[in-house]
Amino acid sequence: MSAALLDGKLLADNIKLILRQEAANLKKTTQSVPVLANVMIGEDPSAAAYANSQKKVAQYIGLDYRLVNLPIQISQKELLEQIDRLNRDPHVSGIMIYKPVPSQIDYRAAVNHIAIAKDLEGTNVANMGQLILGGHKIIPCTAAAVMEHIKSTSVDLPGKEAVVIGRSEIVGKPVSLLLLEQRVTVTICHQATSQAGKLAGHVARADILVAAAGKAGFIKGEWVKEGAIVIDVGINKAGDTIQGDVEFDSAKKRASYITPVPGGVGPVTVVMLMKNGIEAFKMQTDGSHP
Ligand code: NAD
Repeated sequence: MSAALLDGKLLADNIKLILRQEAANLKKTTQSVPVLANVMIGEDPSAAAYANSQKKVAQYIGLDYRLVNLPIQISQKELLEQIDRLNRDPHVSGIMIYKPVPSQIDYRAAVNHIAIAKDLEGTNVANMGQLILGGHKIIPCTAAAVMEHIKSTSVDLPGKEAVVIGRSEIVGKPVSLLLLEQRVTVTICHQATSQAGKLAGHVARADILVAAAGKAGFIKGEWVKEGAIVIDVGINKAGDTIQGDVEFDSAKKRASYITPVPGGVGPVTVVMLMKNGIEAFKMQTDGSHP
């Protein structure tokens, strides 16, 4: 068997077209467009590259992208005041804060300060809680991208076994909750699972494998169940190349679908942020925001 490739660029392009149409429709009915106010503290080359690619995607879809540059020496209090200002600004639909932040900044507290309906990344405490309760409209972007890839296979999900490797706030936990919502049976593995020597055994049961540990090629292809859907979230720098968490060549021989790295989850994640921007705008214009 050789797995079908889940091409993230293609999927991202398809979703971009849908969002572009939606933004155009919103512009017709509201005479305005979603405004994203993305906060960068100081300067960081990788954050700047990420911001640049977001700006391009936002402009293509028809959203107004604004980079809010703040000085590296800003205090926590001043940052929260800036966020308050953006929260109150009726023209701003969505807000996010780029990482890294300087050491005097409590990133988690700052994200939690973003208004629930303007939380572009979907990672403030209220939106994360909403994931447990259901009825969420703003979903953490990487987790949403993983689900879009899985959805694109059209495989019937209820009752399937999923194994999620990684239990982080932005990937592992939200992906697990979103899979659970689809009535998938979910196992979450993490470092202690590996230390207990049980990772390979869990992976072997996975109809759906989501790898998000951040360790190049540490999931062996031979562990992968025949016919599995393999979603590799890992982005690991290895010299001049970027590698996923899964040993791609050998996993591809056993899986039915697999995401490449790069070009799998990454391109879709950026688009999911735009989707959140549109959802945030809709909540604010139709008054349904929490
Ligand atoms: P994190 O460091 O916050 O979490 C890593 C998780 O992996 C932890 O829960 C840890 O317990 C688990 N883990 C570590 N070593 C393990 C091992 N040997 N066996 C089993 N579990 C192990 O990382 P994160 O922020 O969730 O990111 C994970 C990966 O996904 C990174 O490579 C990151 O760059 C990538 N990422 C990609 C995107 C994207 O858009 N493609 C977005 C976010 C993160």
